[in-house]
Amino acid sequence: MAIKLCDNGHTFKKTSDCPVCPTCSTEEMKGKYSKEFPNIGAPAFRALDSIKIQSLSDLTKLSEEELLALHGFGPRALRLLHEALKEKDLSFAQK
Ligand SMILES: [Zn+2]
Repeated sequence: MAIKLCDNGHTFKKTSDCPVCPTCSTEEMKGKYSKEFPNIGAPAFRALDSIKIQSLSDLTKLSEEELLALHGFGPRALRLLHEALKEKDLSFAQK
């Protein structure tokens, strides 16, 4: 696996299925979301973006099971979002 250096100075391991700098792509995705949104990582951001979830309040329409079924969305992202929702007295949908 080759170590690559992106235009913004991040080093990352280049894999064939993910040729993009992970730091830059996470920052690009995170830029679409509000500051209160935790950094859940680019794959999870892309998963939410694909179903037009753009804020913490949008998340309350979905259950944990529905989120975990999304491609790229894992338990770590779920935990981070759960904590962020709890701080606002919000929660995932109960279905
Ligand atoms: Zn980068």
